[in-house]
Amino acid sequence: MLQSLSEDAIDLQQDAVQATPGGHSAAWDRVRARLRAELGEDIFMSWFKGLELESVDDLDVRLSVPTRFLKSWISSHYLDRIHARWNDETGQAMRVDIAVRSPAARSPLVKPRAAQTAPSLTPRANDHAAAPAVTAVPAGASAINESLGGSPLDPRLTFDTFVQGRSNTLARAAAQQVAQSRAGDPVLFNPLYIHAGVGLGKTHLLQAIAWTANGASGGRRVIYLTAEKFMYSFVTALKNQTAIAFKEALRGIDVLIIDDLQFLQGKQTQAEFCHTLNALIDSGRQVVVAGDRPPSDLESLDDRVRSRLAGGLSVEIGGLDETLRLEILTQKVTQARQAHPGFDVPQPVVAYVAHHVTQNGRDLDGAFNRLLAHNRLTNQPISIEMAERAIRDLIRTPEPKRVKIEDIQRIVAKHYNVSRSDILSSRRTAVVVRPRQIAMYLAKALTLRSLPEIGRRFGGRDHTTVLHAVRKIEGQISADMTLSEEIELLKRLLGDM
Ligand code: ADP
Ligand code: MG
Repeated sequence: MLQSLSEDAIDLQQDAVQATPGGHSAAWDRVRARLRAELGEDIFMSWFKGLELESVDDLDVRLSVPTRFLKSWISSHYLDRIHARWNDETGQAMRVDIAVRSPAARSPLVKPRAAQTAPSLTPRANDHAAAPAVTAVPAGASAINESLGGSPLDPRLTFDTFVQGRSNTLARAAAQQVAQSRAGDPVLFNPLYIHAGVGLGKTHLLQAIAWTANGASGGRRVIYLTAEKFMYSFVTALKNQTAIAFKEALRGIDVLIIDDLQFLQGKQTQAEFCHTLNALIDSGRQVVVAGDRPPSDLESLDDRVRSRLAGGLSVEIGGLDETLRLEILTQKVTQARQAHPGFDVPQPVVAYVAHHVTQNGRDLDGAFNRLLAHNRLTNQPISIEMAERAIRDLIRTPEPKRVKIEDIQRIVAKHYNVSRSDILSSRRTAVVVRPRQIAMYLAKALTLRSLPEIGRRFGGRDHTTVLHAVRKIEGQISADMTLSEEIELLKRLLGDM
């Protein structure tokens, strides 16, 4: 193995490594964090774990990986993305280059993976670093999965820990049905396709199926693979001329579970995936797939794959509502208390987080981890104030909508059947005076403009005129129901623009 690495290796200057200034390594940390958030943990760990920053010289960013295969994979699939993130971070047009780093300089850190004893679907690549991180998982289901070449399973992602709510009832029921059926049972829906936005529980459900189905006594061979791992295994098999063995191994699976299908790329890989799908489904084996959108929207996928997916059962997981978020968090606290007996999150804090972190399960994880870390590191009890500080950046307050004075004038004019130039004019007939005053009132209420500024925008009027209008309409609203309803309607029209 070292042989093949040293062929690839280029000599990196030790001083170039040391010259990486702190500012750049902070930028690199942020680039990595963004990639991790965008691509998800599994993909990030599969491909980016060994990617390191070597140096930044003016606009040249130099990254390195341990093997040539990783270099070419990352270069062809992710270089644009990495490049874009660097540009975002630095606000400059950076050049990004990926090199293969010298094993000599780093070999003490690189420990060879333990020899694989079970026959493996993945022809064990020379470059262990390219394979997904191996986590310490209990024997049993995970061992079977891994011996077949599957992606690692997270022991926390089971049906027991999956909280049911309105948005995921159907997906959960379908997943359970699949997980519990035995070899030889009729296959009810095939393939089962689960789609949802990021962080809504797809991976959790898929891994729950893998844990249950592999642990069941039915003796089914179940494999959980990310689409990226599928690609990686297939490409490696082609390279090692073991593609036939790869295909045969896959065709012998009882339940094939593929995660993040939207990342399946490459014509040949897609064709192979399509053949596998057809072979398994036609012989009554179960296929479960998850993606971030409905099958019809997977634009980059081959038509045949899309129509095959659409031919099974497609279920969506919706957003996590507040009740569900609350239950998920409560459960996380309960779990964490087993490992950290002193740890607790008071109910009002749980409710605060569930109310404010509304995006998805990953943000909930993030919020929860910060509370835990804060508590562990400072030994301070968790309070709302502390939670507020810890999760501030996870709370997305909707951008206040900017209402323009021109829009107010236009909408008000239309509503009262006058023209905008009437409103700006010096005419003083009642038909235009009232809409003009209402428009001025709305301009004060809905924008941050000052009275003189509003006066200028209303045909060069004095700020006292605006003040008069604002006070007058304010006074009338409280007495006149019809007017107050009209104003509400106008506000809504402006808000919906
Ligand atoms: P996806 O694969 O759809 O992006 P994940 O399955 O990785 O999402 O979920 C993100 C996080 O949210 C995980 O920690 C997961 O356990 C948690 N999560 C999402 N939905 C649920 C649920 N219904 N019950 C418990 N945890 C959930
Ligand atoms: Mg996922």
